[in-house]
Amino acid sequence: MTTPTAPSAAAEAPVPIAPRDKAEILAQALPYIRKYHGRTMVIKYGGNAMTEPELQQGFAADVVLLKLVGMNPVVVHGGGPQIDTALSKLGKKGTFIQGMRVTDQETMDVVEWVLGGEVQQDIVGLINGAGGKAVGLTGFDGGMIRARKLKMKDKDNPEVEHDVGQVGDIVSIDPSVVKTLQDDQFIPVISPIGFGEGNASFNINADVVAGKLAEVLHAEKLVLLTNTPGVLDKSGKLLTDLSAREIDALFADGTISGGMLPKIASALDAARSGVKAVHIIDGRVPHAMLLEILTEQAYGTMIRAR
Ligand code: ADP
Ligand code: MG
Repeated sequence: MTTPTAPSAAAEAPVPIAPRDKAEILAQALPYIRKYHGRTMVIKYGGNAMTEPELQQGFAADVVLLKLVGMNPVVVHGGGPQIDTALSKLGKKGTFIQGMRVTDQETMDVVEWVLGGEVQQDIVGLINGAGGKAVGLTGFDGGMIRARKLKMKDKDNPEVEHDVGQVGDIVSIDPSVVKTLQDDQFIPVISPIGFGEGNASFNINADVVAGKLAEVLHAEKLVLLTNTPGVLDKSGKLLTDLSAREIDALFADGTISGGMLPKIASALDAARSGVKAVHIIDGRVPHAMLLEILTEQAYGTMIRAR
């Protein structure tokens, strides 16, 4: 027998599981199914985690499974790489300041049709294909996400403010449309686009939307699926759990940068606002979400308010 060299997680050939072990694994999920029955799980599906068709299908099947065993999954999706692809077709290049996409009017139009159109409907279709009933929404639907222009302070010098264009800061979230859909067997799939004065549209970081939505829905869990094993320290080692104080130190010494900045900030806000469990996990691992929610094993990075 030869030992296979470590393949990428997604390409790994399935190891046959003995029937007895299978039964054991299924039985172990029962306490979690019981504990989370009727509870809301907000799941952020990162644009970087949704690149492979097989992983996308696995994600959709996992969402349907959670719904069928009695939980209320709410999906918030991103789409950074998909927006970049669309921008490059127009000869534009995406730019970011402190993890936020600089959004001029042309970029906003692209964000609306890529996120609110293509990406949202892909996810809706996959969930429906897996046997669920998904409904796509943007923040305009049901007057859900009210926003205003983000005034972004420089992370090192609060005197300096960056203009990132049509990037939205959430004023309020009215979750009634989400609640109505949930009660009626539907799975909401939300694109992070908000509305403001004069019917203006705002591009909002999807982690920020997911965090705030988890708070107003009194979610049991907020799970952020991304393209790293979790939050990594300076040497690339996984940090399995982080408190507010530890996060401050990581911000200060520059260990956290780019898209991880708004991710951690909204994860921490959600934890502080009463969301019981907040996890950043690797969406490239098949069925990562099921492993996190239905098994005792901890994955990725857990964010604690204290
Ligand atoms: P998503 O589409 O999931 O929101 P982002 O690109 O916005 O993905 O954020 C995740 C990225 O943040 C990682 O791929 C990584 O490049 C970056 N990052 C910055 N600092 C860290 C850190 N300390 N640990 C892990 N990832 C980090
Ligand atoms: Mg991001």
